Amino acid sequence: EHRVKELGRLKLTLISAAERMVMSRLAVVCGGSRGIGEAVARLLAERGCRVAVVSRNQEAAEAAVAALHGADHRAFSCDVSKEHQVQETFETIQKTCGDIAYLVNAAGINRDALLLRTKPEEMVAALHTNLLGPMLTCRAALRSMLRGPGAAIVNIGSVVGLKGNSGQCAYGASKAGLEGFTRSLAKEVASRNIRVNLLAPGFIHTDMTTGLNEEAKARSIPLGRFGTPEEVATGVLFLLDSSYLTGQVLVVDGGLQLAM
Ligand code: NDP
Repeated sequence: EHRVKELGRLKLTLISAAERMVMSRLAVVCGGSRGIGEAVARLLAERGCRVAVVSRNQEAAEAAVAALHGADHRAFSCDVSKEHQVQETFETIQKTCGDIAYLVNAAGINRDALLLRTKPEEMVAALHTNLLGPMLTCRAALRSMLRGPGAAIVNIGSVVGLKGNSGQCAYGASKAGLEGFTRSLAKEVASRNIRVNLLAPGFIHTDMTTGLNEEAKARSIPLGRFGTPEEVATGVLFLLDSSYLTGQVLVVDGGLQLAM
């Protein structure tokens, strides 16, 4: 009787393993309602992933999901800087969508001003969204990732985090911190076949850059123009798809950092 029960359990394990292999992989894209994150969500859906789009604005997340190729995508409203919301959202994602194979942290805000004019609460907001946010989402996704055969995380940093920029002290600090976090987490989880990389964009056409003088800024970019969210998404897909890259920084900036 004991053997029959054991065989039954083995059969169930094999069936669920086979089911997991044929099901498309689940990607969570934080900040997937607009800009770079939206382009990432679109590309991953086109490549057959099921996508969970996370942003504070539920309607915007739902609109982004409605525009995705294929079915089985879901929208979640969550402020990534709030530990309780992140924990609850990721638990719901795992319960309703299954284990997470990919996590892309594209949620971000800029609080640009000279340091003397930056209020402490604006510093806190930038650090909480851009640095604490990805730390919380990675932490919330890891248990689920550990159950799978392998997983990958891409954090969206910035050339400002690598090179610095006047008027972006809070933002630059948050993005430099994100690079340190990425490298440390990469070391921590490599033995479990979870890869963690950072993609650092330059100037990209999104809501975040609409107020900028594009013509003047473009003169400082060797390729002479801003990038598109789709061009960044291609880089994210490359990092997710690779199998032997971890703890790395991929700069997608039209050569901007060469000139900084
Ligand atoms: P957008 O402003 O176009 O989009 C930001 C996205 O993040 C939205 O989906 C927004 O949705 C979401 N978001 C913001 N704050 C939170 C939060 N607290 N919790 C959950 N979601 C949040 O920005 P971009 O697409 O331009 O930027 C994406 C990432 O790329 C950011 O990390 C940014 O710093 C980085 N980056 C961008 C560059 C550029 O030139 N555009 C250059 C270098 C880096 P909602 O408001 O509904 O929450």
